[in-house]
This record gives sequence, C-alpha cells and structure tokens, in this order.
Amino acid sequence: MIMYDDVNIAENIKNVQARIKEACLRSGRKPSDVTLIAVSKTKPVSMIRECIENGITVFGENKAQELTSKLEQIEIPLDWHFIGHLQRNKVKYIVGNTKLIHSVDSVRLAEAIDSEAEKKNITCDILAEVNVAGEESKFGLAKDEVYNFVSEISGLKHIKLRGLMTIAPYVDNSEENRLYFRFLRNLLIDINNKNIDNISMDILSMGMTGDYEVAIEEGATMVRVGTGIFGDRHYT
Ligand SMILES: *Cc1c(COP(=O)(O)O)cnc(C)c1O
Repeated sequence: MIMYDDVNIAENIKNVQARIKEACLRSGRKPSDVTLIAVSKTKPVSMIRECIENGITVFGENKAQELTSKLEQIEIPLDWHFIGHLQRNKVKYIVGNTKLIHSVDSVRLAEAIDSEAEKKNITCDILAEVNVAGEESKFGLAKDEVYNFVSEISGLKHIKLRGLMTIAPYVDNSEENRLYFRFLRNLLIDINNKNIDNISMDILSMGMTGDYEVAIEEGATMVRVGTGIFGDRHYT
C-alpha cells in the first residue's frame, strides 16, 4: 500500500506557480506565456482531482494505457499532454485524446501520427524531441538530425509541428543545464528563420522539477513538473 498522505498538493502548486512567476519577472517575461503541465504519471486519479480543485487543468502522462484509463475516469474536460516515448502501435490511443504530443523523434512516428489524424479527420499538434546533451540513455533526435526531420515532415497535412521539447540531464545544480535550454531556443529560432513551408514553431517544452526556473529564464513556454507537485514517484 503506497501512502500519499504526506504530500500537500495545494501548497506545492502554489509554490511552483510562485517560482514560475519569479523566474518570469527575473527574465522580463509574462507568467501567462508559460504553461505549467502537471505530470501525473504513476499518480492516482484522486490526486489529479485535487489538482483540479486547485485550478490545474493541464496534465502530462507518458504511457498510452495509463492515459486512456485516467481519461475514462475523469469526466471533466482537461488538456492532456503526451510526454513519453510513443510506439507506433499505440498512436491510435493518443491521437484525438491529447492536446499535444511532445515526444516525436522519428519521421516514421510522425507519419504514423499523420495518418491516424487523417483517419480521425483532425490535425494533431506535435513537438520534436531533441536529445540536446547527446545522452545514450535518452530518446530524441540528435542535434544534427533536427533540421532534416523538420524538412521531411513539413509536407504532412494532418500534423502541425508546434515546437521543440527536451529532457535535460539529471543534475544537482540546474545551472549546468542552462546551455542546453539556450541551445534548444536558438535551434527553434534558426529553424523558423529557414522559412520552410508550413513550419513556424512557437512552443519550447523544457524544464522539469529540478530545473524549470532556469528553463523559463532561457525561454521555456511549457514546463513539465511532476515531483514538485505530486511528491516522489513510487515505481512498483
Ligand atoms: C516524468 C517526466 C517529467 C516530470 O519529472 P519531474 O522531475 O518529476 O518533474 C517531465 N517530463 C517528462 C518527459 C517526464 O517523463
């Protein structure tokens, strides 16, 4: 039996929102330009309901099955973001159920999302995941693959590439990740400046519990915070 009793979700949300606001003020940005995504993976629906009571309507999940099951249990309309590694055979569960897929890292996956969106007669918003630090253990496009990826998918009619996402290395001092966040922002600007048909990106999804303030200072428009809201995750 996992005990969640020691987590004060209302207080955690207030704290994260205050820090987001301060990071925005430090860097001359508007708090309304940064979306907080509450990453609820592994956490029960009861905790999601507590977030909703505290004004949160944007959630992130990383597994197709868990997302589908939570969707069925919650009657209130919410914005669900898919942030995990996505297999092509799971695309049908995600397209149409999510506001944004953050983790697209191959042309084949983008094509699978495009054809599922076509089937459902919708346009699906996606981000390209970039492995900025070149970590072996992480998914994502290598830095030097991003431009080719963008050009290759630019002709797909049922997806819209909205921006870039990264998961920075796990570090003790978040300052160590500043250069990666800065790199991703510059990459987005560079690619926008190439004026590729249908490509104009406006979303930078970067920053997690350990480093979201630095990410905001470097231009993040979406931060993905799990532990900072829900407490530690217990994997069984
Ligand atoms: C789990 C996860 C997060 C949240 O991580 P925390 O460190 O708990 O805030 C953010 N982004 C992705 C892609 C994740 O898988």
